Amino acid sequence: MKVKPSDREAFSRMAPGVLTAGGFLGTDTRPPEEIIAEDEAAFARLGMDFDQVAWELAQLAEEGSKGLGEPIKVRNLLVQAGDARGMLPCPWNDGLFHKTAVSLRPADLPPGACVEGEDMLVYSELSIHLLKVHHFCQGLGSPFRLAPELIAELLEK
Ligand SMILES: [Zn+2]
Repeated sequence: MKVKPSDREAFSRMAPGVLTAGGFLGTDTRPPEEIIAEDEAAFARLGMDFDQVAWELAQLAEEGSKGLGEPIKVRNLLVQAGDARGMLPCPWNDGLFHKTAVSLRPADLPPGACVEGEDMLVYSELSIHLLKVHHFCQGLGSPFRLAPELIAELLEK
């Protein structure tokens, strides 16, 4: 990607303690433009489309909200919606998003056996926006990272 001044500003807001306590980059030491480029390549390799995946994640979140905090089964997945209140701004400053986190995990795995980022995805409205609009899946080690390979596995792409 070509990094514009607005991207530089957004990247500086991804550090821990600016918009969220943990920030958006996890333990990733790559610059954000590199994370985005590599995840775009992974999406292409896996034959996935950012808009389509964002739409599916939003649909699953919607389904999950019907469980009112309890996990509910949707297709091959257990979807569980949290109850965090409040809003978060996008690092690119183009919107405010609900903080409520949703988790997706395979329905046939016991909950204790699930590890965030390995077989469980956790995301919020902001994560979906970051994925759809900015192609930003967040850094490795971020609890909210939407790893392309794991998306492909859970959404059966
Ligand atoms: Zn944005």
